[in-house]
Amino acid sequence: MPMIQGVIGNFEWTPVSILSLLGQVLAVLFVVIGAVLLFSLVIGYRAYRRGKVRMPGPILLVIDIFYTPLKKLLKVFRKDPRVVDDISIVLRNHVNMENYAITKPEERVVLVPQCLRHTRCPAPMSSEDGFTCRVCGLCDIAKIYKVGNAIGTEVYIAPGGRFAKRILSRSKHGGKKAVLGVACHTDLYEGLLAAKIGDIPAQGVPLKTEGCVATKVDIDRVIDMMLVGLNAEETDRVRELVA
Ligand code: SF4
Repeated sequence: MPMIQGVIGNFEWTPVSILSLLGQVLAVLFVVIGAVLLFSLVIGYRAYRRGKVRMPGPILLVIDIFYTPLKKLLKVFRKDPRVVDDISIVLRNHVNMENYAITKPEERVVLVPQCLRHTRCPAPMSSEDGFTCRVCGLCDIAKIYKVGNAIGTEVYIAPGGRFAKRILSRSKHGGKKAVLGVACHTDLYEGLLAAKIGDIPAQGVPLKTEGCVATKVDIDRVIDMMLVGLNAEETDRVRELVA
């Protein structure tokens, strides 16, 4: 192949030397990317486990770019891949908190998944508004509804991810400024990312148990996040409603 052969400086451009050079470049790239991923996982994990948040923006960027490879990497090492979602949720909550906290409760929307309902849930469903809770008390959504009613925050029970995205877009056009989402790890990661793209300050609480029915969430954490920005007197008044 005389076309690509030649000598530039001390380097001899032959097919074999070019392939060898490419191999070396790829090897260096591989090591650099591996180091960046490992560094991001370690820093992110410290934020998730110990609350020591450092460089949330760059770590989130790495997670967003390498989301699937990171999860596969953790699976290879027999670690729970949901750690990637947990890290991302903690960092995203941290980054968004300031802008979320300055919104009024009536400017926020809460989205919870339908799997959080009790198996004997009597809530009717419409394609427009999802399930409408009857506040029967069989599941924790009743508490979320009660708090929502008390502080003026709209609460939606989403039958699926597509509905949640539609509510997000509808709420934004309707003047809502922030969202609190409850979902399984993967859906919450995607939801928080969609909110970021839509420039909506969002907070998220992942489910404690996942599945298709009767899932669980840390209800105190959800209520805490709904009450962010309220003064102590208002907070106490609302808490008494669901005590
Ligand atoms: S509290 Fe609401 S969502 Fe939960 S089971 Fe009763 S009606 Fe359904």
